[in-house]
This record gives sequence, structure tokens and C-alpha cells, in this order.
Amino acid sequence: MRIGHGYDAHRLVSGRRLILGGVEIPYERGLLGHSDADVLTHALIDAVLGSAGLPDIGRQFPDSDPRWLGISSMILLEKALQTAKDQFPGFRLVSADCTVIAEKPKLYPYIPEIKTRLSAVCGCPVNLKATTEEGLGMGESGIAAHAVVLAELE
Ligand code: MG
Repeated sequence: MRIGHGYDAHRLVSGRRLILGGVEIPYERGLLGHSDADVLTHALIDAVLGSAGLPDIGRQFPDSDPRWLGISSMILLEKALQTAKDQFPGFRLVSADCTVIAEKPKLYPYIPEIKTRLSAVCGCPVNLKATTEEGLGMGESGIAAHAVVLAELE
């Protein structure tokens, strides 16, 4: 068994869709990034890669590569899981637990759908919590996420 941890943060800007865990959330701003900038899925990808002892998401899917421009991060998550399986044929996720840090928008209504989507791709229960930083930290300028996974390598 191995654990993996991932962290990511993206800036909120106008003119972008807000995607978290593969689910589009209605909001006046979205996250800026080369892919769909799904900060939650990026944190989960880094946790998956970490559990397999692999390099981080920026090394696997560099933002200089046009293949990843605008791509759904859920596809990147599938690819990261496959990369872990290539490394360890018996690789499987046992569980994952994630936290999204956002002052706005309120995420509670979307948590069940996000959990369902991420659990389906990961093939294990994926839990999700949402919190704020009480006006500290990045405030309303962005969204951050942490993820931890437990993985079985063989
Ligand atoms: Mg990212």
C-alpha cells in the first residue's frame, strides 16, 4: 500500500468555464490554465502519480504541449491512472479524499455529482469536502485543492 498527496491552485478569471472534478459549475468566472484548469482533478492526478512514485502532473502533461490545450482534466486523470498501471500492473486505488478551498462560489450543491464522477474514473470511493480560508490566503482570486489517495501496487 502507498499513499499519495497532491496540491494545486489556479487563478479565477472572467471568460473561462469553472470545472471542478469534471463538473461544470455555474459562476461568473472560471479557472485559468492550459487544460480546462480543473484544479481538483489536478490535485487528484498528482496524488495518483505520487502514490506510484511518478513525476508530477507538470512533467507528465507539460503546458507547453499543444495536445493538452483545453483538454478535459478527467482524460488526464485516466491517463495518469494508466501510467501508474504501466509502472505497477496491479495498481489500483483503494480510496481518495479531497478538499477544495474556495471563498466563492459555494460548492455544496455540486459535491455529490463531483464525487460520483471522480469515483467512476478512479474505480474507488472518492470523498470531497469544501472549505474556505475565512478571507485569508488567496481570497476570491483563485481556488485550491488538496487530495490524498491510498493505492495498492500489487
Ligand atoms: Mg493545475
